[in-house]
Amino acid sequence: MRGSRFDVIVVGGGPAGLSAALTLGRARLRVLVVDAGEPANAAGAGIGGLLGHPAEEPVSTLRAAGTAQLRELVGTVARLDGRVRDVRAVRGDGRRFFAVDVDGAVLRARALLLAGGLRYLPPALPGMESLWGRSVFHCPFCDGWESRDQVIAVSDEGARLVRRALLLRGWSREVVAVGPLSVADRAELAAAGVRVRTEPVAALEADPADATRLRAIRFADGSRERADALFVAPRLERHDALPERLGCAPSAEQSALLAVDADGRTSVPGVYAAGDLAEPVRSVANAVGSGSRVGKAIALELLRPLDREIAMEHALTPNVVRRRTPARV
Ligand SMILES: Cc1cc2nc3c(=O)[nH]c(=O)nc-3n(C[C@H](O)[C@H](O)[C@H](O)COP(=O)(O)OP(=O)(O)OC[C@H]3O[C@@H](n4cnc5c(N)ncnc54)[C@H](O)[C@@H]3O)c2cc1C
Repeated sequence: MRGSRFDVIVVGGGPAGLSAALTLGRARLRVLVVDAGEPANAAGAGIGGLLGHPAEEPVSTLRAAGTAQLRELVGTVARLDGRVRDVRAVRGDGRRFFAVDVDGAVLRARALLLAGGLRYLPPALPGMESLWGRSVFHCPFCDGWESRDQVIAVSDEGARLVRRALLLRGWSREVVAVGPLSVADRAELAAAGVRVRTEPVAALEADPADATRLRAIRFADGSRERADALFVAPRLERHDALPERLGCAPSAEQSALLAVDADGRTSVPGVYAAGDLAEPVRSVANAVGSGSRVGKAIALELLRPLDREIAMEHALTPNVVRRRTPARV
């Protein structure tokens, strides 16, 4: 697809962005998906808990399949490897549109979908790097099944640590809670058969034969606790400041997320958000669902009778998937 004017520019080609593009493209809207290629789950060995997708298949296969599917929507969806650097709401030709800077090329869209996901930052512990996503996880529903009946450690603090440790008992009888806890919390966990370690963690030790496999947690006093898997609470961070540039309000509950309505509308007209950026329950399945739902809401908005003619005109131009678009508006 040639040109620099689109109905929708989707920032982020993960499961949320690709799913939205599928819905929008099938509605014959002219869509550009821009993706910087830094998926949240890049460190993961596969995708657990996604219907129809074997958990052990590499993370990249879902994106590749989604991208191939979009290529079939001739004349509607284009995909660009690159990063959206800046974005502005502009008025021109009597209409409001968005000027989107993709690595220096300024493109134009009637609506914007922010689907850039989040960064998950695990606690900065020595040894974490090679273990993150392989035997140190954050989500029992994603990786609990693969860790079942193993020695599972969970680190956090206070009530949240108690809640998560008791939850993980569903996956294994051998659960170790690691972190600061009150006497009452310790007693509650002990009654449920959960071991407790309140000393500060010094490092994570991997299996010498396999750097991705956790073997033990080492504490500040030099003692060790054997563990095959560890669940942690990562800090969540946005990839960029595009939402702030546009003036999108953050979610009142989780500041990394954007405030959205049920259709993914942010506080800024014409700007939508889907996937991790907008979903309090983060998973690939939810990202796909959220992208589909928000894509439909955008299509309903853009395909109001007056705009229909323009969209049909766009849909008749040929589809080309390219790496860079030098076009400017
Ligand atoms: C280690 C780990 C393991 C996980 N395992 C599982 C699992 O097993 N099962 C499961 O269901 N969920 C899992 N998750 C959660 C899951 O990965 C996310 O919920 C899901 O990927 C969210 O999809 P998304 O499309 O919103 O974001 P992402 O998948 O993160 O995709 C967003 C894309 O947008 C791009 N982007 C960001 N900003 C820009 C920009 N300015 N310009 C262009 N592109 C941009 C990024 O580079 C990225 O490619 C895991 C998460 C982590 C951290």
